[in-house]
Amino acid sequence: MQKFTAVGPVIDLRSDTVTKPTPAMFSRMASAELGDDGRGDDPTVKELERASATLLGKEAAVFLPSGTMSNHVAILAHSSCRGEVIGEASSHIFRSEMGGLSLLAGLYPRPLPGRAGAMHIDELEAWLRPPSLTSHSLGTAVVCMETTNSVGGAVLSLDHMRDVCTKSWQAGVPVHLDGARLFNAAIALGVPASTIAAFADSATFCLSKGLSAPVGSVLAGSRLFIERARGFRKMFGGNLRQAGLLAACGLVALEECTQRLADDHLNARRLADGLHRVDPHLVNPADVATNMVLVNVGRSVADAEQWMRVLSDYGVLTAPVSTDRLRLVVHRHVDVSSIERVLIVFAEIYLTRPATLFAM
Ligand SMILES: *Cc1c(COP(=O)(O)O)cnc(C)c1O
Repeated sequence: MQKFTAVGPVIDLRSDTVTKPTPAMFSRMASAELGDDGRGDDPTVKELERASATLLGKEAAVFLPSGTMSNHVAILAHSSCRGEVIGEASSHIFRSEMGGLSLLAGLYPRPLPGRAGAMHIDELEAWLRPPSLTSHSLGTAVVCMETTNSVGGAVLSLDHMRDVCTKSWQAGVPVHLDGARLFNAAIALGVPASTIAAFADSATFCLSKGLSAPVGSVLAGSRLFIERARGFRKMFGGNLRQAGLLAACGLVALEECTQRLADDHLNARRLADGLHRVDPHLVNPADVATNMVLVNVGRSVADAEQWMRVLSDYGVLTAPVSTDRLRLVVHRHVDVSSIERVLIVFAEIYLTRPATLFAM
């Protein structure tokens, strides 16, 4: 394909998981005090767990290798019956965790319809039942919320979270918050992370996404809950040894990388505004809440996979989330000039109208 723009360095918008450790992380790693965390002996992991519990306003926290393991461990540590797990249908636990909650926890998924990651409250009321082993219908083991939503970066309102919690707690059902991008939500709402985590019994966040740490998630909750979680972490093979190397990066992530997420949100907004100028059907800038932009390619003859391939020929990497939508995620390695180059690429695609994307 003849291109007018020079293809420069690759701009990777597939996810914020592609962020690499900062220089401060490497130096913190080099000087970290280490021990065997499988025996509870790593002082740096303990420091990260204490700092995380404090940030989330919970009694205790545990470091885990991934967000997926953290969700599975949390759901198992909560569930006292072989019941249903309720959540909004687009949640990561239903879409992207390989059915682990059924296989590993023996629980039954109950995905509910919603909007922008927020389940419809009347659906929650219809499906919510007290946890029980004896009644004729399956009880609710856990209710899960997700903020920000992993499909489009939407943030749950605190009012919605309060509603979900009140109804769940009235039914005696625990609430887990999958806050993989909790600090993005906190920045967007302008509140501390603890204000959001207060609307859940347990909350997890990823250090390895926009916060730039290479590996790791943290799960926080009551002291008793975290003790149970440690048992399941061991069962899943998630007990690491000199994990202080990773926790050192996590501490830098919490100290230096949460506030800068505001830059990512600003750049995502720039990207959305620019794409809207190229074609108003591509993006509704009002939908951009955090660091993700959903691009709707439904008006062209091509599907999202074909758009992904054409964009990657220009050095712009994206990820389809459905047949007609691409997800573009902004992060620390995407600056204003990268955004401008992505906009030039889209403008050129619209100018040259390649036959694979547009009908002749
Ligand atoms: C990424 C993500 C996870 C899983 O995290 P991994 O560390 O990739 O296992 C869970 N929930 C949400 C909402 C996510 O975005």
